Amino acid sequence: MRKVELLAPAGDLARAKTAIRYGADAVYIGGQLFSLRSRASNFTMDDIREICAFAKDYGCAIHVTVNMIPHDEDFEGLREYLIKLQEYGVKAIICASTAIMKIARECAPKLEIHCSTQMSVTNSLAAKFMREEFGVDRVVLARECTMEQVKEITANCDIETEAFIHGGMCVNYSGRCTLSNRMTLRDANRGGCAQSCRWQYHLYDEDKEISDDLLFTSGSKDLFAADMIYDLIEAGVSSFKIEGRMKTEYYIASVISAYRHLIDEILETGKPLSAERMAYHKKEILRGENRETCIGFYQGVPGSESIIYHPNSDASVNHDFLATVKSYDDTKKTAVIETRNPFDVNEAFEVLSPGRENRSFTVNSIRNEDGEYIEKSRKPMALLEIPVPFELRAEDILRRAR
Ligand code: SF4
Repeated sequence: MRKVELLAPAGDLARAKTAIRYGADAVYIGGQLFSLRSRASNFTMDDIREICAFAKDYGCAIHVTVNMIPHDEDFEGLREYLIKLQEYGVKAIICASTAIMKIARECAPKLEIHCSTQMSVTNSLAAKFMREEFGVDRVVLARECTMEQVKEITANCDIETEAFIHGGMCVNYSGRCTLSNRMTLRDANRGGCAQSCRWQYHLYDEDKEISDDLLFTSGSKDLFAADMIYDLIEAGVSSFKIEGRMKTEYYIASVISAYRHLIDEILETGKPLSAERMAYHKKEILRGENRETCIGFYQGVPGSESIIYHPNSDASVNHDFLATVKSYDDTKKTAVIETRNPFDVNEAFEVLSPGRENRSFTVNSIRNEDGEYIEKSRKPMALLEIPVPFELRAEDILRRAR
């Protein structure tokens, strides 16, 4: 089958490197300016240069979100920023503003322009228009497209299409929302979404509270479209996008690794996977922490079952991220690990390693930095030595099923 792109999110340098190691073909990141979800913790210019160099060694592409909806006072420094991105080797920018597209075409012509899902492209005419008028190279389809519409658009426009397959959804048309502005004065379209749709509200009928013990939210369940990947490949979609620039390193590693295996198996076999294989991959994907999920719009306009109306819908965590591997000594058969969460001696660990099937072992002993044997590890970021019966690689992740 035709090669497709697995596109991962990353909120900082460490998570971008993790996504690349665990099999992403491309990673999208945000700079400190001109991006939705702009914040100081986003990538600095030095970070962007570093991740481009790192990605190059893996044959991975870096896409940068330049997807704010700018007002006149927001353009200062944009040209210089885009020229730098081009110079550092960024492959594409993701834009939601025709003004930014026009400026990018003028000052940084080597950057691909990807039309953000925020522009809500739901038909092939719009996709063609973006190509002809603004030189767009790819459209990120609106999450509100059904599978039939994805097929139609992809067949009838002569540019690449990208589709979301996993992660958060917005109950409004992908960010076309002023709820956050109203509630917090934080503009969702200039990077400030406070996720106000996920807050818990008291419900009133005029001035009478309907129920004071039933708080109400209106956020969407997360997208989980692993079942649609074969059909999306068949439809000609070029890139499969995971949402979640704010997600943890563990989430990125487990979800990207699982989708990597799933997509590779489909591409190798060239046909839809059996129910048994799909169940295996879906279980692996859900080992990252996940909120309640739905299939989005792929099988038709979703109903009330796709909305979280009441609390208790926080991320369900079925594994604990225990440590990352710093080094492995093949002679001693021991690993030095850096801890994240508590664990005890004699617990069963599972190893998440890029490109490998998951393996398990029991930790028979733990030695601390002073060479003393300890029964329990309770300190985060401690360097410990443990025996491991098989080879581990630096940056492998150790986790424990709950
Ligand atoms: S507040 Fe909710 S609906 Fe509005 S943009 Fe943010 S995520 Fe979307």
